[in-house]
Amino acid sequence: MSCNSTYWQVLCVDGNSYACGSIKPLLNSIVLHDKRTLVTHCDGEDLAQYIVNGVNYDLILLTVNSDNKANTEDILTSLSQNEDTQDIPNILVCDKDIESLISQQILETHHVYGFVELQHLSSFNTEQLIKSALKTSDLLNKYKNQAVELISSQKAFGKLHSLTEATEVLSLSGGWEWDIEAQHLTWTNGVYFIHDLPMPTQLTAELAMGFYLTKDRLIISEAFEDAIQKEQSYDLTLSIKTHSGQIKTVRTTSRFKKSAGKLTHIYGSITDITSFTNICRKIENKSKLISGVLNGISDAVFILDQEGNILDSNPASEKIFGHSQETLIDKNISLLIPESKRVDHAAYVKAYTDKSLLGIMGKNRVIYAKKANGQEFPIEITINKIKQLDKTVYISLVRDITDRLERDERINELAFKDRVTKLKNYQSFEMDFVEELKKYSLAAERACFVQVNIQHFFKINFAYGHRFGNEVLRYIALILEEACRSVNGKVYRISGICFILMFGHSKNVEEIASEIKCLILKALLHKHNLNNNAFDLTPVVTLYSDKVANIEESARKVLSLLELCQQGRDKKNNFTVIDDKYLAKVNRELLIEQKLEQAIQNENDFYILYQPQIGVDGNIKAAEALIRWEDKDLGLVLPDEFIKIAERTGIIIPLTKWLINKCLSDIQQLGKSKVEIPISINISANHIIQTDFVSDILTPIKDSNISPELIILELTESAFTEDVYAAMLNMEELSEHGIKFSLDDFGTGYSNLGYLNQLPFSELKIDKVFVDQLLLGEQERNLLETIVTIGKVKNLSIVAEGVENKVQLDLLKTFDIDLFQGYYYSKPIHFNELVNLYKR
Ligand code: C2E
Ligand code: CA
Ligand code: CA
Repeated sequence: MSCNSTYWQVLCVDGNSYACGSIKPLLNSIVLHDKRTLVTHCDGEDLAQYIVNGVNYDLILLTVNSDNKANTEDILTSLSQNEDTQDIPNILVCDKDIESLISQQILETHHVYGFVELQHLSSFNTEQLIKSALKTSDLLNKYKNQAVELISSQKAFGKLHSLTEATEVLSLSGGWEWDIEAQHLTWTNGVYFIHDLPMPTQLTAELAMGFYLTKDRLIISEAFEDAIQKEQSYDLTLSIKTHSGQIKTVRTTSRFKKSAGKLTHIYGSITDITSFTNICRKIENKSKLISGVLNGISDAVFILDQEGNILDSNPASEKIFGHSQETLIDKNISLLIPESKRVDHAAYVKAYTDKSLLGIMGKNRVIYAKKANGQEFPIEITINKIKQLDKTVYISLVRDITDRLERDERINELAFKDRVTKLKNYQSFEMDFVEELKKYSLAAERACFVQVNIQHFFKINFAYGHRFGNEVLRYIALILEEACRSVNGKVYRISGICFILMFGHSKNVEEIASEIKCLILKALLHKHNLNNNAFDLTPVVTLYSDKVANIEESARKVLSLLELCQQGRDKKNNFTVIDDKYLAKVNRELLIEQKLEQAIQNENDFYILYQPQIGVDGNIKAAEALIRWEDKDLGLVLPDEFIKIAERTGIIIPLTKWLINKCLSDIQQLGKSKVEIPISINISANHIIQTDFVSDILTPIKDSNISPELIILELTESAFTEDVYAAMLNMEELSEHGIKFSLDDFGTGYSNLGYLNQLPFSELKIDKVFVDQLLLGEQERNLLETIVTIGKVKNLSIVAEGVENKVQLDLLKTFDIDLFQGYYYSKPIHFNELVNLYKR
């Protein structure tokens, strides 16, 4: 017998129209017994319709009644003749004794499998019905002649017997009896049912014992023997292998019966407890698993009552808290909380326990706990409220997170702290500064950001090594931290040699500036001595201080401050206060930078003006080429503004190349008018040191076939601050080709006369400052005279710049000056105007 699908398919054939109404609820109760039953109802007359379609019924229940014999016979005939239904177990459900309904002959001919009285139907579930049907069918097949006997004996037992049988089947139990004298064994139906043994099989003690598994056979036979010999009862749980090969666990018991003091019978019960033991085993396994988990996990688990008293705990709790499991029982959990935190903890727990909901109450809450030795440590606690029978208990899961916090701390340190100085790093700054801005805004303070850049730090590394360099950085960090304490601020190392301090301040910018100068600039800007190594620090300090009206706006400004400082725009000044004017200037610079990049692609925006240089005789002897840039949006931008940007961005190089070409073609033009004067071209410091510089100059000169003598390159002293050696080599090579050099703005820089000795200059231009000061007094005149004398000693031609009036000119003429350049004679003019000057 097997269940075809997940469901038992039962066809219920209604053989008596009137009974149908009463059988339906009964059938429903079968379905209730066994939810896996699908019942199909059909009228006896429509039977043919239901047994086609290939539906494989597991059981046919045929309800018949004694008033309608003919109908019953018809239905049985159609069932037994139809190939599809012949072998399906069928059961007659009848209202009365079967004999009064159908003759023995009919039962035999039509293979009736089993019977059940209507009133007992509900005691069976489908599987049992089918089983009993099959059992009866075996019986019919094997012992056809005895079949009716069985039926009548069943009847003889009457209703009590049916009830016993039904309850035996339901309770999976049965009774047995051993007649000692007759050596005869009797089983009730229930025992047959447990052993899957067809009834009535000839029973013997050997047969009965043979069902027990070998391992249990000795136990049962000894117990049986003792029962007889020693009048001892037994109650054993053993395993049997049923007739159909199924292994079952049974509980078998014995009692004895005496007659006239003599033992006559042993009897007892057998109960199939397979499902029960299976369940028990499962529960046992599950609880073993759970206790295995609880014993094995590294988290502490406490079971608490409503008052927080510990009902139970696991071994990890002992390991974590240092109290033995036994001592913790019945103690209050607050024992594990530091005294100072007990009140808080109790309030927290109460807030949760007051809620009537079951389930997880507080998840992963981090608190401090206390070990038996008093040591406090961080734990993460989760409390789960569950109902156990009529009690509410709390399961508290506790994890020691000391290691995790330490690990977090280490990660934090790696990610957010600078390794060398242990100051917070740029990532920290980025995370903190907006919050700080909000704080200052709330406190109505000015937000102050101070950026400190240490210039030329590489020199310290170079001189004393990186390790010492790191020590110096730590030393600087200490100075900055000290400064920070004074202003109650925070300090960060945001890149190699760049630090930033931030704090809120209620003073005005000037006051803050002077405080910062004192705290930082003065503290850093002098000779230091660390571990017997002396070194200078060259800090560049930038202060940005503003009211925080709009957090976003302020945050944006702070970031552009960083950007600016990073670019090191104001390397020359060691202290800059960034205000709106400064930012506006920077913005214009950025705009110019952008425009210049576009303009250099489109050279039309540039042109050259020439400023004549006049000799003592009043004639034009030379001219200086001065670049002009006219942007369609910005208008005329003066070189004083854009040249330094062009220099910073490197645009100066293509720009100078363009200018040289233009000058050369102008010189060619002048040549055509038989005018031959040298033209001075201004060269930037970062161009002269380039390896390509020589060819940048010589190639166009050669191409234009112009005498190199007509080109004078003007250099200022700044050309010799970066890489004197490279500048000198280039100058020497060019002067060998006949190019001349002029030292521009003389007197404004370092005025290192060494240049004049080492470098191939042929001209010296006295800066306008000296010309302007000339009228001030004798001292100034003496200074000028000294300069001129030096120049003359070095055999240089002397040019006075910025001559604006006749008084200046007349005075200058008293010195041995060769050329005069200035507005007095001419402002810088267009090339055609220069040509016209000659035509006049
Ligand atoms: P610089 O080389 O010292 O040029 C002289 C500057 O003084 C010119 O200013 C000129 O117009 C101005 N100047 C001449 N005479 C007088 C005078 O009597 N009074 C006053 N107040 N100023 C006078 P400019 O053309 O604005 O150029 C400024 C600076 O820009 C130049 O100073 C030079 O350093 C730089 N520069 C100009 N053109 C170029 C160029 O093509 N290349 C490079 N690298 N720098 C250039
Ligand atoms: Ca110049
Ligand atoms: Ca000059």
